[in-house]
Amino acid sequence: MKKNNVLIIGAGGVGRVAAFKCAQYRDIFHNITFASRTKSKCDTIVNDIYAKGYTSSIRTESIDADKIPELTALIKDVKPDIVINVALPYQDLTIMESCLATGVNYLDTANYEHPNTAKFCYEPQWNYDEKFRQNGILALLGCGFDPGVTNVYTAYAKKHIFDRIDTLDIIDCNAGDHGYPFATNFNPEINIREVSAKGRYFENGTWHTTEPLSIKKVFDFPEGIGQKNIYLLYHEEMESLVKHYPEIKRMRFWMTFGESYLTHLKVLENVGMTRIDPVIYEGHKIVPLQFLKMLLPDPAILGSQTKGKTCIGCWINGEKNGIKKYYYIYNVCDHEACFAKTGSQAISYTTGIPAALGAKLILTGQWQGKGVFNIEQFDPDPFMQEIGNWGLDWIETFPSKPNPILENS
Ligand code: NDP
Repeated sequence: MKKNNVLIIGAGGVGRVAAFKCAQYRDIFHNITFASRTKSKCDTIVNDIYAKGYTSSIRTESIDADKIPELTALIKDVKPDIVINVALPYQDLTIMESCLATGVNYLDTANYEHPNTAKFCYEPQWNYDEKFRQNGILALLGCGFDPGVTNVYTAYAKKHIFDRIDTLDIIDCNAGDHGYPFATNFNPEINIREVSAKGRYFENGTWHTTEPLSIKKVFDFPEGIGQKNIYLLYHEEMESLVKHYPEIKRMRFWMTFGESYLTHLKVLENVGMTRIDPVIYEGHKIVPLQFLKMLLPDPAILGSQTKGKTCIGCWINGEKNGIKKYYYIYNVCDHEACFAKTGSQAISYTTGIPAALGAKLILTGQWQGKGVFNIEQFDPDPFMQEIGNWGLDWIETFPSKPNPILENS
């Protein structure tokens, strides 16, 4: 039997979970190479994986994935069947280039971003479609939770629950508390760029732009989480979902934020600390947001002290057999339980598991294709059948009417 080789790039919180999951499923991921800029981070994670009793063969390497020649050489040496990119969005294009040069499948969890412009859009990666097709390889974009599982939930709802989807609200709640007045649960630079950007939602064929965090509602979350403020944000999966489900009349993305987080963010913005353009300080060029990142707690260390739950899901209104139908599908994770399993809090956990499962479905041929794909383009069934066993249960409810909070303006 052919042995599968996988190369995981990026030893952060998400990389840790992806490596744990690949090691757990050693019948699929026979040989694992784990590479990051800082090799010692890979070694620490691998030691933790072995300490949990997993016995996969895991090689670690140092790589700067911004450098295409070095990365291409590493890929030629490792000969992976797939590269799981869980480094930062800045590396998406260089890793895709190296996959093209070596004829290897590619998977990531976040759309490409240029370090100097916070622009969340799939175009630079979709532009690779023809080249990936010609090379006979596949790139799967956005295979985390959101984007990722939320796209699969939508594809599953369209396949099994609705003839037509009218509205989609993706609602992301992190009700966890890490004990710090201000910290981010994943890479601070990426997180703050996303949150401080203008909001955007899709309605009746048009994108509408809103001031950052200017639209707020109070949503009642299940499983004891209760009422939380949710804020309208732009999120990248809406771009691909609008493209692949043109029937959807209104699509929005919501995220919870605590008061302390928002107050700190406002002050940091007001004093210029979230700027991504370089400023000269005592003769040195510094990017304020990158400097701020150095001062904030590393998300990797938050795991051990984060308590509470996450709840991410899709509220969908639509029609089946001519009858209006309402559907809410979600996952709930407990930060402490996630940490006990992998050493990462729930945000990394809910991202790393879909990345590893997506890679499995490609390796086993359950998801096939040539070119660049978003996850909703594949059959949701094999993913939905397995994701619960992999650690992300889903719960579906069929309310009798639209959600009044989401519907009132
Ligand atoms: P972290 O900052 O914790 O980790 C990123 C890792 O990438 C770091 O360990 C870093 O390496 C490595 N890295 C950065 N630059 C390079 C480079 N040039 N070459 C090689 N390695 C590099 O981030 P997270 O783990 O929190 O997030 C990982 C990805 O997951 C991000 O793209 C993020 O946007 C995405 N994400 C997606 C979500 C979803 O639901 N779809 C949710 C959360 C995150 P080192 O430390 O070795 O220097």
